Amino acid sequence: MIPSELNESTALLLNAHPQASTDQQACQQASIDRSGYIPESFADGVIFAQSIDDVVLAMSLAHEHGVKIVPRGAGTGLAAGSCAQAGEVVLDLSRMNQILDIDPVEQLAAVQPGVLNAEVNRAAGEHELFYAPDPASTAICSIGGNIATNAGGMWCAKYGVTRESVLSLLVVLPDGQLLRTGRRTIKGVAGYDMNALLIGSEGTLGIVVEAVLRLRPKPRFTSTMVAYFADENTAAQAASAVIAARLQPSVLELMDGKSLRAIDAALGTEHQQRGGALLLAQTDGFGAQLEMQALTQTIAPLASHVELAENEEEAHALIEARRQAIPSMELLGTVSICDIGVPRNRLAEAFAGLQRIEAERGVEIFTIAHAADGNLHPIIVVPEGQSITTGAAKLALADMFYLAKELGGTLTGEHGIGLLKQDWLAEEIGETSLQLQRRLRAVFDPQGILNPGKAI
Ligand SMILES: Cc1cc2nc3c(=O)[nH]c(=O)nc-3n(C[C@H](O)[C@H](O)[C@H](O)COP(=O)(O)OP(=O)(O)OC[C@H]3O[C@@H](n4cnc5c(N)ncnc54)[C@H](O)[C@@H]3O)c2cc1C
Repeated sequence: MIPSELNESTALLLNAHPQASTDQQACQQASIDRSGYIPESFADGVIFAQSIDDVVLAMSLAHEHGVKIVPRGAGTGLAAGSCAQAGEVVLDLSRMNQILDIDPVEQLAAVQPGVLNAEVNRAAGEHELFYAPDPASTAICSIGGNIATNAGGMWCAKYGVTRESVLSLLVVLPDGQLLRTGRRTIKGVAGYDMNALLIGSEGTLGIVVEAVLRLRPKPRFTSTMVAYFADENTAAQAASAVIAARLQPSVLELMDGKSLRAIDAALGTEHQQRGGALLLAQTDGFGAQLEMQALTQTIAPLASHVELAENEEEAHALIEARRQAIPSMELLGTVSICDIGVPRNRLAEAFAGLQRIEAERGVEIFTIAHAADGNLHPIIVVPEGQSITTGAAKLALADMFYLAKELGGTLTGEHGIGLLKQDWLAEEIGETSLQLQRRLRAVFDPQGILNPGKAI
């Protein structure tokens, strides 16, 4: 039974779900993500949805009684998009975690939203297929969260972000109605592209309860290389040269010297002894080796040392080191992960700008980048317990936005706006676009009950 001190509508909603909890620890855990943002209070309750019917019931009652709902996948978000506070109920989708169907002929997977990204890839792999959008958090993030943030990852360099790999969605709207978007065919242009609108909408327009994902044939051949450079600016020039040479690696990741130091400390590796920055590249397909040769020649004049992975284990270890970059920094303190995007020929200028910000604001910045997409993650690390949303950390975050803007870039490449980056959204998209987006949101959710205060 739900405690009597709760507001009547919230109690009614929670009592309608056998899988709801008001346990303090459960509410606290469900109110924070991995952004480092700590809300001043925590959600009133959590509903652990087990089925589409649970979600429909929750939204119908929330709509009828005006209860605010925060959708939540695995809580690995970096923009405080799934953070919740008092007066809100978290709708946790993590238990709806089944792969419903894999069609190896059409190369599609139908999945529930709570299934982990890596689990889709494991299941697809049984059919020699793969799901391309692979955030570094693949082992811990959910497909529903990936869709809501339009997540990117390493293979997005060649295969595009989540939007390019989602064909159809089943969504529960804020009033409890079910909406199907897109289709199971590769092509299709009937009506407005509602799929594209929902993808990246950060849980503000509807709740994803099923998705049809596009899978791709696993490449028969891959070639993996790591190159070391004197410093990050030179590594950035090399990454820009790869793009300018019209090469299309499936992975092109850059890590600066500080990130290498954090990874070495956490994993016991010795990257820092080989260079002051690193570029990790993978090519794939029938021409993998030829393309890698061309890539190596392109960066050779800038690199101090190049190593080709000799077998799959070596390649896997290199990719894994990159996946461990953020967890390695989290061992050093509280992290604030910025997510700017710049034109790919301006990467070196972005690194130079970040060095200026670090010196001026007196904060430590570790930078990793999905270099082929021009997407940098400058990560501010502050001592445990220190705020990332005020003081020097906040000022540095603002500086990074203005740096991206000056270079013709964006405030967020893949993590979203959530609560953390709202201060600068209007400056990027303009007042006309912001007002139009808010009107669009109100069409879906006239009462403003879904993920209030987030995104736009
Ligand atoms: C170590 C680490 C590495 C990371 N690397 C990357 C990376 O390489 N690329 C990248 O893009 N991100 C990365 N992230 C960020 C994060 O993993 C992604 O944003 C991911 O997509 C969030 O998924 P989630 O299931 O954890 O969602 P949550 O954090 O639970 O939610 C994120 C947003 O989605 C909404 N949401 C969740 N589920 C649903 C649903 N079913 N329907 C509607 N809305 C929903 C929430 O309301 C919230 O707005 C990383 C995070 C960590 C901790």
